[in-house]
Amino acid sequence: AETPASLIMIFGATGDLAKRKLYPSLYHLFRKGKLSEHFAVIGVARRPWTDEVLREHVRDSVLTSIKDAENIEEFVSHFYYKPHDVSDSQSYIQLKNLANELDQTYGLEGNRIFYLAMAPEFFGTIAEHLKIDGLTDTNGFHRLVIEKPFGHDLESAKELNKRIRNVFSENDIYRIDHYLGKEMVQNIEVIRFANAIFEPLWNNRFISNIQITSSEMLGVEERGGYYETSGALRDMVQNHMLQMVALLAMEPPIRLTPKEIRSEKVKVLGALRSIEHDDIPNFFVRGQYGPGEINGEKVIGYREEQNVNEESNTDTYVAGKLMIDNFRWAGVPFYIRTGKRMTAKSTKIVIQFKDIPMNLYYKSEKDLDPNLLVIHIQPEEGITLHLNAKDTGQMMETTPVKLNFSNNHAPGLNTPEAYEKLLFDCLRGDATNFTHWDEVALSWSFVDKISHYWESQKAKFPNYSAGTMGPKEADELLEKEGFKWWPVT
Ligand code: NAD
Repeated sequence: AETPASLIMIFGATGDLAKRKLYPSLYHLFRKGKLSEHFAVIGVARRPWTDEVLREHVRDSVLTSIKDAENIEEFVSHFYYKPHDVSDSQSYIQLKNLANELDQTYGLEGNRIFYLAMAPEFFGTIAEHLKIDGLTDTNGFHRLVIEKPFGHDLESAKELNKRIRNVFSENDIYRIDHYLGKEMVQNIEVIRFANAIFEPLWNNRFISNIQITSSEMLGVEERGGYYETSGALRDMVQNHMLQMVALLAMEPPIRLTPKEIRSEKVKVLGALRSIEHDDIPNFFVRGQYGPGEINGEKVIGYREEQNVNEESNTDTYVAGKLMIDNFRWAGVPFYIRTGKRMTAKSTKIVIQFKDIPMNLYYKSEKDLDPNLLVIHIQPEEGITLHLNAKDTGQMMETTPVKLNFSNNHAPGLNTPEAYEKLLFDCLRGDATNFTHWDEVALSWSFVDKISHYWESQKAKFPNYSAGTMGPKEADELLEKEGFKWWPVT
């Protein structure tokens, strides 16, 4: 399937995201023949670049990710550049003139995608100008793609949403959550709904708890300034972690349409037990890394990082217990944890099944291991099922065994990156793997309660060393219920 003719306008064309993700992804679609030859890209940013400079930049960005970039010259010839001032109508009128010209040259049928790969403070202004200055006055489709963060809390998200909804309808707004473009995140629903051995067990009668870990080894790097206004709860939990919870917990949709899938996810988010003020420490743990060691190298603590307040209260780690108060999940904790400067870079989901009613093979102090289904999201992609089998030999003793499926494709052209899939979906008009406003609103109202509580209390930071799996309170969160975090490495 090929995408329809389209003009893609990238705001923030000189930025990091465009360079690392968007250009290589577009090239992959082009090279695989998935991109209609009726396409053109206008790069928009502040710098006084020319078409030639952008093309050189795009060529470089593609060549760093793929060495034998066939037809790269033809690909980059579709790129144009306009220096731009986001709040100046004159700028938009020039942009419109170029867009109309390219419409003719490439036969783009007036279809337009506006990709905002820049700081969110400009989203509202840009959307308004697109309309006022006539960039959306064509016969084709007009879609807005926006990056995270979508607001800072429910209030600011509502404000932003109001501004962009004045210009674009909900169906034309593609809010990126790049986790939803990941192969194994998309696989969650297939594993659940295409296998007779899982779905019948996928409920509180057979599952004891679910654990989702998304750990990073990196610290805040140069993003200290931004991170100080965000923290792990807003940066990771509000979007990626809650999206994974929703996919794991949702009811089977009646059809695989964006509307049906999103409405099942919305129901899960609506069923999240809201945690009130004083109860928050019983459900959520925050952390901030101090100095420590990563791969044998000493690293500094968060408070020593660039552009970070030396008494910063910002969370670089969150662990939490979520309860979903519906028929399927009542009583089953969903544990999540995410943070920077942890032991490994890894995103994994562990589904722990309940113990069988009695253990025939109980020998002295050894219990049977519970069955686990592990979904490896990144960097490895695959599934592992932990079973008990007979230990080889004379005795009827058990030993844990693992069934492994590894999505072990060679990295490169065959591995569609999240952004490649999401761009393809957006070009085809499929919004399934983008977040609907209702999901954004429910996630923020859940997260806001926690951040308000945390803001009202001084944290005892730092409380975990770089290179560890987080503060001990995160372990206690599970231990008090007789569980433990399953290792992710
Ligand atoms: P960046 O700082 O590297 O790039 C910002 C771009 O915006 C540049 O092209 C700059 O020229 C342009 N810009 C800034 N102010 C402007 C103005 N007044 N007028 C016109 N252009 C202006 O940022 P980035 O890392 O590419 O991130 C862009 C967005 O994507 C952000 O919302 C970020 O949160 C989000 N995001 C980035 C990544 C990533 O990997 N970089 C991942 C997820 C989300």
